Amino acid sequence: MALPCALVVFLTFSTASEAFFSSAMLELDRESALKTLDHAIITKIGLLRCLIEFLKDNPQYIDEEMAVKFENLQRMVITAGTPDKVQNFFDVMMPRMRLQNVITEIQSSNAEVNTAPLKSVAAAHFSGEQFKEGSKRLLELKSQIVTSLLKGVKFEYARQLAGQYLHTLQDFYSHSNWVELENRNRKFYALTNPANSIPSQYVAKQNEETCISCPLAIEQNDNCDNNLIIQKITSGYYGGQDISKPANVSKCGHGGILDSSRNHGTRGGINKEAATRKWSPHYK
Ligand SMILES: [Zn+2]
Repeated sequence: MALPCALVVFLTFSTASEAFFSSAMLELDRESALKTLDHAIITKIGLLRCLIEFLKDNPQYIDEEMAVKFENLQRMVITAGTPDKVQNFFDVMMPRMRLQNVITEIQSSNAEVNTAPLKSVAAAHFSGEQFKEGSKRLLELKSQIVTSLLKGVKFEYARQLAGQYLHTLQDFYSHSNWVELENRNRKFYALTNPANSIPSQYVAKQNEETCISCPLAIEQNDNCDNNLIIQKITSGYYGGQDISKPANVSKCGHGGILDSSRNHGTRGGINKEAATRKWSPHYK
């Protein structure tokens, strides 16, 4: 996660909030839903990892009750595939409810980016090749978060912004071809570094073709295994957003049954956000 851990800790230890509703999961079939690492799960795991790293580096914040179990905490590595460790961590952390509430609050703000008005803003999702704009959005949000925290009275507002920040950052990896460019385990630091903007030679130009149409395969699922035709960074265009798929150049779509433009122009897409081909043509 690009937010420094100390900042996350400030965000996490202050007042409480409301319930989180994961609309995406309800629409998926059960098997896919269990396999999908959605925004809510990624956000929770990231926040807990940050808290653990912060406590390892700053043991002065560990109270007596936590100290009893801290030996285990030192060796703890949290991943989405280890729910028992997540539970162990919650058992150590006090007060538990407050921690759960603030994580929920950040998850809710993250989910709100998928509702109006931000739903239709391509830059908020790194869709439609809005890399410069998406990166600018991240830098602005980060600056607002820091300002809010420095004022010391706007923790709740800072958490709302952090949820939005994390949504946009997470979308970069699921909506672009960063993973396909053999960057499976690498982070793209230029996205959030004001001193190191994204080198333009690495990004597909407006008039450069990035995808070919996916042939229609069985069960109405497009076979998009080989639709990418470029070795530069690109992302999918999503129907209904403020940046439309161009008609005169073959660009990648977001793809999947939620993308209303998946059959317009270049068929199919490249998103990998859900664990089912019906939703995400590039899910592996
Ligand atoms: Zn999004």
